[in-house]
Amino acid sequence: MSEQEFKRALGYANSAFDLLKRSGIPAYPQFYELLYTYATGVNPTLNTRMNAIFRTGQSPTVDLAETLYNEFLKAGDANERISNVSERMNARIEAVHDAIDSAMTTANSYSGSLQAATGDLEREITVADMRAMAQRLLAETRRMQETNANLEQQLEASRDDIAALQRDLNDVRRESMLDPLTKISNRKSFEEGIGKAVMEANTAGTALCVLMVDIDHFKRFNDTYGHQTGDQVLRLVAMTLKSNIKGKDIAARYGGEEFVAVLPQTDIEGAVIVAENIRKAIQAKELLKRSTNEKLGRITASFGVALFHPGDTTNSLIERADRCLYAAKHAGRNRVISEIELANIRAA
Ligand code: GH3
Ligand code: MG
Ligand code: MG
Repeated sequence: MSEQEFKRALGYANSAFDLLKRSGIPAYPQFYELLYTYATGVNPTLNTRMNAIFRTGQSPTVDLAETLYNEFLKAGDANERISNVSERMNARIEAVHDAIDSAMTTANSYSGSLQAATGDLEREITVADMRAMAQRLLAETRRMQETNANLEQQLEASRDDIAALQRDLNDVRRESMLDPLTKISNRKSFEEGIGKAVMEANTAGTALCVLMVDIDHFKRFNDTYGHQTGDQVLRLVAMTLKSNIKGKDIAARYGGEEFVAVLPQTDIEGAVIVAENIRKAIQAKELLKRSTNEKLGRITASFGVALFHPGDTTNSLIERADRCLYAAKHAGRNRVISEIELANIRAA
């Protein structure tokens, strides 16, 4: 860690403590994390929300801090959310079971009463007995109605709950496919997507290209400006990648500062054009530090482009894209090298 980065992190920590003290919020790890995140400014939505609170002249209360923490920092934990959803689902199913059990018991006892009444009616009975019987049946009918109404209510509530649970599950499923930092596809969903694309190219004989992207000298950038700013650059590159592809294409974070794009039904000339567009777009962005507007210069990235050949597997295709990327780095970075160019370089 550079001395600069050390100082920067300490600065964030100090402002987080200041904010905690001023707001009278206990310095528990989660509240510290919340205000540290605020101090870094990496989450603009969080900062907008908190600034709106500070603007009213109020301090965030512990309750509010808790809510913000859950929304912005804790919500990323997909496992916890899945277990939360399944707990709620279980509780809901149990409540419906109980309501059904109690409705069945009532229905059984009601049909018992009806049978007894039928028996009574077959015998000679007095008017007084008849009246008593009618009253009994009336009371039982009311009880039955109540139980049915309760069951209906439970089912109604369950329908809404289950719809909400379904939405939550869909959110969790969608999130589990995304990289938490850049919000584009993660490695797992990339593997799934490229698997399908390779299968389609193999069976349908359609074209398919893969771009491997690696940011140039990113270690140096991190060492100079810190990891938090480095993370912002990763988000920027991810967005640039995503906004330059379309339709069935997939843009994903492959790991660290490496990205990948899968371009089905795209020939190598088309893929090189896409890569060039992304390369130029990245290079064109003048980086500004959000909190201070300090100019951070520009970054560049190198690209390798591979074309699917019949018999290729996911691995062989990625390996070729990787070799092209390595050649692009070797040739001086900030460039696109396709497997055709690589073959030409080697032949020369
Ligand atoms: P090259 O041009 O050869 O690719 O040089 P490089 O410095 O980019 O390559 P190297 O693989 O040596 O370093 C990659 C660096 O990327 C290391 C680390 O500092 C940074 N990095 C990896 N993952 C993350 C991340 O999630 N956030 C941040 N901020 N930096 C990361
Ligand atoms: Mg790398
Ligand atoms: Mg790199």
